[in-house]
Amino acid sequence: MISRRISDVVVLGSPHCKGTLRVREFLTRNGHPHTMLDLDRDAGVQELLDRFHVTAADIPVVITCSEVVLRNPTNQQIADALGFNDAIDQTQVRDLVIVGAGPAGLAAAVYGASEGLDVLVVESTAPGGQAGSSSRIENYLGFPTGIGGLELASRATSQAQKFGAQLMIGTGANRLACGRTPYALEIGDGHRLPARAVIIASGAEYRRLQIDNLSRFEGAGVYYAATFMEAQLCTGEEVVVVGAGNSAGQAAVFLAQTARRVHMVIRSAGLADTMSRYLIRRIEDHPAIVRHPHTEIVSLEGNGHLERMRWRDNQSGQVETHGIRHVFTMTGAVPSTHWLEGCVALDDKGFIKTGPDLLPEDLAAARWPLARPPHLLETSRPGVFAIGDVRAGSLKRVASAVGEGSIAIAAVHQVLHE
Ligand SMILES: Cc1cc2nc3c(=O)[nH]c(=O)nc-3n(C[C@H](O)[C@H](O)[C@H](O)COP(=O)(O)OP(=O)(O)OC[C@H]3O[C@@H](n4cnc5c(N)ncnc54)[C@H](O)[C@@H]3O)c2cc1C
Repeated sequence: MISRRISDVVVLGSPHCKGTLRVREFLTRNGHPHTMLDLDRDAGVQELLDRFHVTAADIPVVITCSEVVLRNPTNQQIADALGFNDAIDQTQVRDLVIVGAGPAGLAAAVYGASEGLDVLVVESTAPGGQAGSSSRIENYLGFPTGIGGLELASRATSQAQKFGAQLMIGTGANRLACGRTPYALEIGDGHRLPARAVIIASGAEYRRLQIDNLSRFEGAGVYYAATFMEAQLCTGEEVVVVGAGNSAGQAAVFLAQTARRVHMVIRSAGLADTMSRYLIRRIEDHPAIVRHPHTEIVSLEGNGHLERMRWRDNQSGQVETHGIRHVFTMTGAVPSTHWLEGCVALDDKGFIKTGPDLLPEDLAAARWPLARPPHLLETSRPGVFAIGDVRAGSLKRVASAVGEGSIAIAAVHQVLHE
């Protein structure tokens, strides 16, 4: 239906409007076919606007086959209108509620449901998480020619549903009521989902450049990792590394082995405050690495793939254009843990501490009530687990997130029998 453009949903909008992109991404990543009508280019748009009493100021507008008209809707409003979550009983006490349907959450759903647990996954946008935004994952076991992130996500979702796991899409967890058991997860519309065990797989978000059309180039010139694979893509070319921390330093040194030139775009005055001394020395000594302090990228351009960018020297205000096709954003990741409000112990960067990483003082502060120590992926709250990128010390890879999803289920069984 998607490839033949057979759909029961019309999106009225503009490709230059951020809201339109968000709505289309939500529908696409949830595998829901839709027809896009471009306000500026498509014939018959005015007739539709008049018929449904909407104006250009209302875009993006979503019209469903039952003629429900949504003006600049939230993801949850779209999910409700299209009945994504109609089959879910929100009052039932589940064995396991999982927050986040990235690789970690989906793996936990597959293993949990296949081993007989009653599993509900709550996902604020669409299954796949960060991996879903990757055009091709080349290092995941079993896919020698790589697999698209969307395809991996849709296969994993089908697999979880085949075993009976349910997915609630378009609504995020706002709070974990962890004062007593069963725990309850408060979701976007104020409902509480009771659970005997909880797995937090809400991941992390890489800090992104504040540039409007960034998502068009993610995976097509904009990268969040500098591994052998990315290095191959830009051998002999000029590249940009954004950031001033150790990850940016390591990326610059690594890429300089194969790239013609590595430009380090640094917003601050230099590297001294944020990078290890040994890396700074290597960068200073390397003839192919050029540092640009007080500098920021201000625009990205290209047709399909990134072709050029502009950066600004914030001291002089001068903007330069460079025909560089690759930019590595190494400005760190922010864990999605703001909604936990002190329920579980976090490290100083906000990632969740688990198992042996929990110090006696963490457990004392959380009033850990059991004689046994926390299981491997268990947080400072019994029966609440954290897996994947959101967990302190995790590897930030698809395979490790999936592995942690399966390991956590073994401990969930033990907790449910306690
Ligand atoms: C562009 C890109 C390319 C990558 N390429 C590779 C690669 O080739 N190989 C590799 O091994 N790794 C790659 N990675 C890293 C890999 O994608 C991550 O390590 C992996 O996705 C982590 O999985 P996760 O399930 O822990 O978290 P995430 O993938 O971050 O998923 C978390 C999910 O939780 C949801 N969520 C967050 N908060 C809430 C909430 N409050 N309520 C409900 N839902 C919530 C999010 O919407 C998201 O769907 C890439 C990452 C990016 C960004």
